[in-house]
Amino acid sequence: MLDPTTSVQYVKGIGPRLAEVLAGKGIQTVDDLLHYLPFRYEDRLNPRGITELRAGEMATVIAEVRNSGLFRTRRMPIFQITASQGRARLKCLWFHGTYLKDRFKPGQMVALYGKVEADHRTGELEIIQPQFEILGDASEEGASDSAEQKLARSLEIGRIVPIYESLGQGRLTSRWFRRVIHSALENLAPALPDPIPDVVRRHIGLVSPREALWRVHWPDPGESLQDLQTSRTPAHVRLIFEELFFLELGLELKSRQQKAQTGIAFHLDDRVREAIKKILPFHPTAAQKRGLKEIASDMEKPFPMRRLLQGDVGSGKTIVAFEAAIIAIENGHQVALMAPTEILATQHYLSARRILENAGYRIVLLTGSLEEDRKREIRRHVAQGNAQLIIGTHALLEEKVEFEKLGLVIVDEQHRFGVLQRLKLMKKDRAGLRDAQAERSSAEPDVLVMTATPIPRTLALTLYGDLDISVLDEMPPGRTPIVTRRVSDERSQEVWDFVRKQVAAGHQAYVVYPVIEENEETELKAAKKMYTELESRIFPDLKVALLHGRMETDLKDQVMRLFQKGEIEVLVSTTVIEVGVDVPNATVMVVEHAERFGLAQLHQLRGRIGRGTAKSCCILMTGGKITEEGDRRLDAMVRSNDGFQIAELDLELRGPGEFFGTRQAGMPSFQVANLIRDRQLLEAAKREASAILAGPNSEITQPEIERAIWHMRSRWQHSYGLVEVG
Ligand code: ADP
Ligand code: MG
Repeated sequence: MLDPTTSVQYVKGIGPRLAEVLAGKGIQTVDDLLHYLPFRYEDRLNPRGITELRAGEMATVIAEVRNSGLFRTRRMPIFQITASQGRARLKCLWFHGTYLKDRFKPGQMVALYGKVEADHRTGELEIIQPQFEILGDASEEGASDSAEQKLARSLEIGRIVPIYESLGQGRLTSRWFRRVIHSALENLAPALPDPIPDVVRRHIGLVSPREALWRVHWPDPGESLQDLQTSRTPAHVRLIFEELFFLELGLELKSRQQKAQTGIAFHLDDRVREAIKKILPFHPTAAQKRGLKEIASDMEKPFPMRRLLQGDVGSGKTIVAFEAAIIAIENGHQVALMAPTEILATQHYLSARRILENAGYRIVLLTGSLEEDRKREIRRHVAQGNAQLIIGTHALLEEKVEFEKLGLVIVDEQHRFGVLQRLKLMKKDRAGLRDAQAERSSAEPDVLVMTATPIPRTLALTLYGDLDISVLDEMPPGRTPIVTRRVSDERSQEVWDFVRKQVAAGHQAYVVYPVIEENEETELKAAKKMYTELESRIFPDLKVALLHGRMETDLKDQVMRLFQKGEIEVLVSTTVIEVGVDVPNATVMVVEHAERFGLAQLHQLRGRIGRGTAKSCCILMTGGKITEEGDRRLDAMVRSNDGFQIAELDLELRGPGEFFGTRQAGMPSFQVANLIRDRQLLEAAKREASAILAGPNSEITQPEIERAIWHMRSRWQHSYGLVEVG
């Protein structure tokens, strides 16, 4: 008998060696194996007759091999077989098919799947590059078959057959998976308790786990092929929902635990409101007002705030953060504001001084590159409570800064930090942000996370499922929309002329490259080399400067400051300027090799312009070959200025794993769910998870709730590859 937690090596047909190969693919337990789902299904219950095939359709044909052979054309070797059903013949071709030479023998039964096409000369029907499976010899059939042979055949034909992706360099074939999965299912322990509470199962209409596992691998003859291919059968829905439900349960539980801790109840009275009003340099947008209201209402509560402030580049998050800071400071607390780079930290520092210092607030900048002496002195100010707003990079986390009374932590551009760091930040000891007051009172500071990466709702529900979310979905007034154009770099002269005109009109420009140095292999234009070219040959009369990530910090800061002051007219750069840099007078963004950048990245880059009242223009120059996906990215950029739209498309193009870079970034990995396809199930899972955590009622008992939580904990790390929850 096999338990879901049994190692796969005990499944018949696997053993220790193959178990190792499977483990490399994340399949360790029987349960993992059973969640290795077919990526499509073939209707071999009703395979097609050759004579009824029509050009253009996808079809499964079961037929006998008549002959096979390899022939060479001028361009490539082609392998061909002729398969037959009685007198009807079907030709199949594989380009570069030399490797198939010895696979087919006359008399074999084969299943073939692919697109039926008409030969362009003879009009005869054929399938090019079909997927195939050799089912055995036609002569083999007969009464002498062992039971095992009969079973084997019945798994291959006469039903809807699951097709699995083969693994282990093709050693573990689709056929192999059919056998072992079938065997695992047959030997599965009879009692398979459902970890999903009854009430939830009823709400969603879920089938039992055992039924789901059987049906997803071995569908009933009556199952809709369409539902199977789109993962919408009751079996699929059950497995997908289960995976999403326990993820949401974990996130929801974490969020509840965080909120159950003691926090600081800040007072928001007229005096504080006046203080906020005094610093505002402009009328806030309706979205900014709403955002602040949500933040302020969290801050007033005696629980720690855990809120994400989301807003497209330029939507004005900074001022909202400053407003929140004032609430904390006016209540006698300190505020830490962290940015992912020194450039950004410095910029925040400069705007904080501009906006807050007149009102008498004491602000310090603490970054890794400061002199040791200077750092020590600043740390002392912080520890003594002299400094009220402490701005820095994550060096703040690492350098054991001690606060006198920390009340609010603001993390800007959070995705750069990664989820692990976020957790570290929110943990009780906060890894370095030591706070004397908190240690005495054990009150947790509030945390506000800001991100300029618009996050599609599906991802927000997973990646940030533990945070409350405020969205700034409105741009400050007076912006003219950015015009985006794509041009081939053969027309670079026109582009440079345009830049020159803009500079002559008193504006500034960015020119961005994908790499710092040249590299023979990639043949990409590089920032350093192009800087020389632009500076000496193309714009000899303009003030051109270079900025990239490998420059000394001091130098970077200096360049940034000069650009901010308008003393640099053309800034040649890499993506270091991507995040947060704010120079309203810059109206041109030229991106060379734009085809090489991700969609989110391009959108971030474009967000550096269009920050003032003058019309801004983003020019995406392409050089070299553009992939189809690259083409769609560039198109999307030209068509849309809406960060959320772009993010949705980005998610679709790259998939959730890539959307935020790596798994390290904290993206849960799913066995069966797909965030793009299963959005509705995700919403339902969130709703149900939140409902059961609200506590027992007439529909659910405390032990049932505890059982679900226990199951979630036992699976969390293994299933989602995420760090342990609280
Ligand atoms: P982001 O959300 O990308 O961090 P910022 O906070 O840097 O955006 O704001 C972008 C620009 O818009 C800044 O120059 C800021 O001063 C300005 N801004 C923000 N809010 C308003 C507003 N309500 N009215 C006018 N300008 C604003
Ligand atoms: Mg910002």
